Amino acid sequence: MDVFRIAATLPVPAARPAPPLQLSLGPGVLETTQDVLRTESNGSREALTIWAGRPRDATTVLVSHVITPVVEADHDWLTISLPERTAIATYLRGEQLLAVADIHTHPEAAFLSKIDRRRPFSSRNGFYALVIPNFATDPPAAGWRCYVAIDGDWREVPLLDAVNGWPG
Ligand SMILES: [Zn+2]
Repeated sequence: MDVFRIAATLPVPAARPAPPLQLSLGPGVLETTQDVLRTESNGSREALTIWAGRPRDATTVLVSHVITPVVEADHDWLTISLPERTAIATYLRGEQLLAVADIHTHPEAAFLSKIDRRRPFSSRNGFYALVIPNFATDPPAAGWRCYVAIDGDWREVPLLDAVNGWPG
């Protein structure tokens, strides 16, 4: 696992806001996510990062951390081992962070595939799954799509609704 953390003081730890969560991206989070995913995908395989942070108020989570797990991946699939999932959960608990979204690349079009829907990183209500097209080789935010977990299913939502000040 690799971790990028914003260079700023974090809000004090607090309980997870009730969905729908508003995400506020800390400085560099969007660019780092796109960079890491482009590098990890390397034009040939899916890659994934996790956004985590702390609540800033009753509805908004400040995304302060971009966590890149070690994955097994190829052109159109990706898995995270159980030990790596456990390591991430331990890290989040230790740092008093909430995981709020996962972000993964596709070789071409961005959409939440059947396998993505069956094997999410989290299916907690309000958890977001973002998909980035073209192995993240486009400019940051270009063509990203966003889905939210609701009662065991996934619904697409506009990124403008999920992420404050979304630039796309
Ligand atoms: Zn996918």
